[in-house]
Amino acid sequence: MAVHAHPDDEATSTGGVLARYAAEGITTVLVTCTDGRCGDGPGGVKPGEPGHDPAAVVAMRQEELEASCAALKVSHLETLGYADSGMMGWPNNELPGAFWTTPVVEAADRLAELIRRYRPDVVVTYDENGFYGHPDHIQAHRITMAAVAMTDIPAKVYWTTIPHTAFAEFGRVMKELGVEWAEPDAGDAPGPQLGLPDDEITTWVDTSSYGTQKFDALAAHASQTENIFFLRMGRDRFVELMGRETFVRVRDTTGAALPEDDLFAGLR
Ligand SMILES: [Zn+2]
Repeated sequence: MAVHAHPDDEATSTGGVLARYAAEGITTVLVTCTDGRCGDGPGGVKPGEPGHDPAAVVAMRQEELEASCAALKVSHLETLGYADSGMMGWPNNELPGAFWTTPVVEAADRLAELIRRYRPDVVVTYDENGFYGHPDHIQAHRITMAAVAMTDIPAKVYWTTIPHTAFAEFGRVMKELGVEWAEPDAGDAPGPQLGLPDDEITTWVDTSSYGTQKFDALAAHASQTENIFFLRMGRDRFVELMGRETFVRVRDTTGAALPEDDLFAGLR
């Protein structure tokens, strides 16, 4: 079970493992917490600009999410339907139904119900900083950790992460492609909170055989193309370069040795 904040996050950070484990016959469940209403609208209209209709954006992104799940062969898609909170400090943070201001226990209760229904061996979500500080990602992390504690069901829990060396490599490729890519942090080195030093990453999963599916899942979120910089690499380059997904293991009842190369190590 992967718990994500918005439509498209499932493809960005876990598209490879979702496709790989589905191909290996494992039941995969995607829980998407928000409706993505703060994404771009048809024709690339930005939120808050005239012509940005949140209801239309929600409907479009639901369709795209379903197409992405089809590309990744996700077994079950569950949506919690909270309103996208937008970036930190946006007025959307405080609107009724916004995920960020929903009490953690309330949303965690709903997620716990799904955990009891599907009984996942493995749960994947973000780290406590939501990887890069987006309020909905932080909230997805909080409700996931609360729901795991409530149910005590998953044998293993992981947070998505990126090794520091991969940032350097990625920056180099984007530069080579002439893509303007805003470093998430000032300076050449990533900040201490973004990603992890390579030796702190516990789990390196080879997803190289599933690069095409992952690219197709990303491409399914066509309305957000401007925000998904991976798409600018083109499919061939993407498949060649993005053949690995990395995680940090934060809960384990199997005793599988670290580092490991499989989220299901110790379970089969
Ligand atoms: Zn997101």
